[in-house]
Amino acid sequence: MVSEQMIAPYPEHETERQKRVDELYLTSHSQDPVFEKLVEITARCLKVPIAFVSILDNQRQWFLARVGLGLEETPRNQSFCFYAGPQQLPLQVSDASVDPRFQHNPLVTGHPGIRFYAGVPLVTEDGLILGSLCIIDTQPRHELDEAELTLMQKLAGVVMARMTSMRDKSFVDPTTGLFNSVRLSDDILRLHERAASSTVILLDAYALQYVKDVVKALGFGFFNDLLIETTRTLHQILPRGIGLYKASPTRFAILLEDTSRQACEALSVRLLESLKQPILCQGIPIQAQAAIGLLPLHPGIADHSSWLLLGISAADYASSLNECWAWFKPELELAHQRSFLLLGGIAEALRSDDQFRLVYQPKISMTDGRCTGVEALLRWTHPELGNVGPTEFIPLAEKTALVHDLTLWVLHKALQQLSEWQASGLDLTVSINISAGDLETPVFAEQLREQMQHFGVKPEALELEFTESVLISNPRAMSEQLQRLRDEGVQVAIDDFGTGYSNWSYLRQVPASALKIDKSFVDGLQEHAVDRRLVRTIIDLAHDLGYRVIAEGVETQKDYDLLASWSCDEAQGYLIAKPMPPDALVEWLVQRPDLA
Ligand code: C2E
Ligand code: CA
Ligand code: CA
Repeated sequence: MVSEQMIAPYPEHETERQKRVDELYLTSHSQDPVFEKLVEITARCLKVPIAFVSILDNQRQWFLARVGLGLEETPRNQSFCFYAGPQQLPLQVSDASVDPRFQHNPLVTGHPGIRFYAGVPLVTEDGLILGSLCIIDTQPRHELDEAELTLMQKLAGVVMARMTSMRDKSFVDPTTGLFNSVRLSDDILRLHERAASSTVILLDAYALQYVKDVVKALGFGFFNDLLIETTRTLHQILPRGIGLYKASPTRFAILLEDTSRQACEALSVRLLESLKQPILCQGIPIQAQAAIGLLPLHPGIADHSSWLLLGISAADYASSLNECWAWFKPELELAHQRSFLLLGGIAEALRSDDQFRLVYQPKISMTDGRCTGVEALLRWTHPELGNVGPTEFIPLAEKTALVHDLTLWVLHKALQQLSEWQASGLDLTVSINISAGDLETPVFAEQLREQMQHFGVKPEALELEFTESVLISNPRAMSEQLQRLRDEGVQVAIDDFGTGYSNWSYLRQVPASALKIDKSFVDGLQEHAVDRRLVRTIIDLAHDLGYRVIAEGVETQKDYDLLASWSCDEAQGYLIAKPMPPDALVEWLVQRPDLA
């Protein structure tokens, strides 16, 4: 039976106190070497085997740092300090085994066998007690003298100061000094508790690619200064009392309470107007490319990631419409959910052997109709969503590091297939599509060599297809890597040619061996004289530069004949064959009469 004394009272202001504990974000897992050192010093100075910092939670006391104690937490009513009540702090017990308040406490009767106890409170500036700094001996002892008690109180003060500074650090963006997203989540939560209506204005100030370019050209310091200047500009517009938050490295946020939709929109327009003027940073005028997502908040949106993501999706939506601001719509969340499902499923799909597969689309020579090679194209059968096209999931994967795993998977499968074909006497070239970033480091090239060796495939039998945008994003690194691979015999084709920058003088420096004219030009051949002239010119210029030319997406005989008359080298498209699984491809090859 629980004795009368064991039922501990809840102190006054418990809700407020508990909130403060939550606010400090001191989870029992946050290990901090300073707290550890402080309890060590406490134990040493006061010559006790056990010292700890105890924080009182709703249900338990847990130890932020401890020395000489195996426990991580205890039920709340076993806490000596809490039990004794805040008014009795600091608390000293010479021998708990004979003290009626504690003699039945499991920490006295069992492990660690407390006899002597002294605890001083951890008090906030406004007088709330969050926990205590405690020392324990397993032998009875005299109470601490005044000097010793003062020392313990001073040490408790240091613990408290450390907690506050850690909290400030976790709430403040160091560059701009603004409150960060953690703090915004917290403020949102508080508003929800009061059931107040509110809106988050999420301001996407700079596109990520732009930031990458700025950092690359001018350095991190410059970008930080730019953020400080941007903060200043925004502050000039914001009415007094409305807080600006730094929501992510390139995004700001404003939390508005009880504000009409019109007022939110009007403020957004003013913020956007202010960012239309270039921001002067270190004497260099920089143009922000701002977009705003407006997110009405309801208590369902509770956690930090969801408001941020929903706000971002509204801001992205605004940019995609070429508008500068947009309200969040539930459809955006659905699109997001699908993206999440896809992105979240890629790793699993790579592990399973029945979700991803490659299909192969032949290319034929326009001089003799021979099949010159095949392009490997990725297919995904998602367990819940069914077939998902590469145009949907590859751009998503390209936004994350997952794309490298995907490329490696394709490389592995394609080379494995190639070696099987070679073993059965089929002499084919396989092209695979490479994404931006794959060649930013030498890792991919090394893995490629390794895999080619592993499968005994000659470099000449492999072709890598890149789009122009990939080449332009990091020309130096790409060229170096590509040149090395070219030197080893791997072929390189520029994909979707004509849709990007198509800068000829630049292209000359790209170590490519072939150029694929984008399907959109081939589509327009019959109708548009401009496309005819363009395609003819591309073929001539590409030949002058020594490139093989491949026309993509050839669907009609008329287009095929026209391209052949301009000496286009190869054709790929539904007219010749659709992408096929390996078996169907072999059958297709065998049935073709012109296969030598
Ligand atoms: P792409 O590299 O330009 O691939 C050609 C796309 O056009 C393929 O679509 C192909 O099925 C389609 N196509 C070929 N001939 C015709 C035609 O005559 N008419 C029409 N309407 N379409 C034709 P798919 O397989 O859906 O791939 C789309 C894009 O996804 C590819 O464009 C490529 O950018 C990307 N992709 C596919 N597989 C991979 C991969 O393994 N890795 C990477 N990084 N990207 C891939
Ligand atoms: Ca391609
Ligand atoms: Ca293409």
